Amino acid sequence: MSRTVYVNGEYLPEGEATVSIFDRGFLMADGVYEVTSVLDGKLIDFDGHAVRLERSLVELDMACPIEMDALLEVFHELVRLNGINEGMVYLQITRGSAGDRDFIFPDPEKVPSTIVMFTQDVPDLANSALSKRGTKIISVEDIRWARRDIKTVQLLYPAMAKMMAKKAGCDDAWMVEDGHVTEGTSNNAYIVKGGKIITRQLSNDILHGITRAAVLRFAAEAQMVVEERSFSIEEAQGADEAFTTSASAFVMPVVEIDGVQMGDGKPGRVAMRLREIYLDESRKSAV
Ligand code: PLP
Repeated sequence: MSRTVYVNGEYLPEGEATVSIFDRGFLMADGVYEVTSVLDGKLIDFDGHAVRLERSLVELDMACPIEMDALLEVFHELVRLNGINEGMVYLQITRGSAGDRDFIFPDPEKVPSTIVMFTQDVPDLANSALSKRGTKIISVEDIRWARRDIKTVQLLYPAMAKMMAKKAGCDDAWMVEDGHVTEGTSNNAYIVKGGKIITRQLSNDILHGITRAAVLRFAAEAQMVVEERSFSIEEAQGADEAFTTSASAFVMPVVEIDGVQMGDGKPGRVAMRLREIYLDESRKSAV
């Protein structure tokens, strides 16, 4: 079935939605994005994603083409028009098209940003088979740029890393820099040792995950101990558990790292408990 998508103020059938070939998102990856999950037809962590979107735009000196209240209405309208009960809403804002290719940013007064949004229907998002089996990951060197805190559409290297994982018969990759794990290709990385949840501290080296923030808050509320520090692949392989968090996969257990099985090879207890708490609590605050 054809989706209805949103492009620059219009709701259109996906086959009729177009963006200029001169759009800077297309030519230069000059754009930012957000992925927001939908459960029970409602948006999960919307405020967090909206705040991070504004921050990404400010960091790149890019104009926001829509007010946040209006943006929430578009999210709701797309979810309604496409009948999404469980799934995702993808949003991308680029610096628009000045009608030619030029490295210099166009004047935002003259060239409006492009905004594109579409839904993805994922009926088993909360109950995914992968969350029951757990993921197998490989490690790869982190060769991305130094502003990973900005959620840009420059996703070529994460896509290449996912392909390396796929070729190795695995599900995903953790990226490593100076001997320490930065994050997953599209998620934040965690280990559990002696009941303690360990995840890398926030900096420009990683994306400040919205799910990460919520999960750490829920973990603290549940009296779990959280330590924000970096860790190596060797430390992760020797840990009791490992998992990742992201808006599209919530809390996802990791059962193998570079061929080394974690524990008994089944999703860990802490990861599954956190997944349950996250899903329960975020459903309650969904909008
Ligand atoms: N790290 C990277 C590199 C990501 O691409 C993502 C999500 O796409 C995350 C972490 C998790 O962020 P969030 O929980 O906001 O989805």
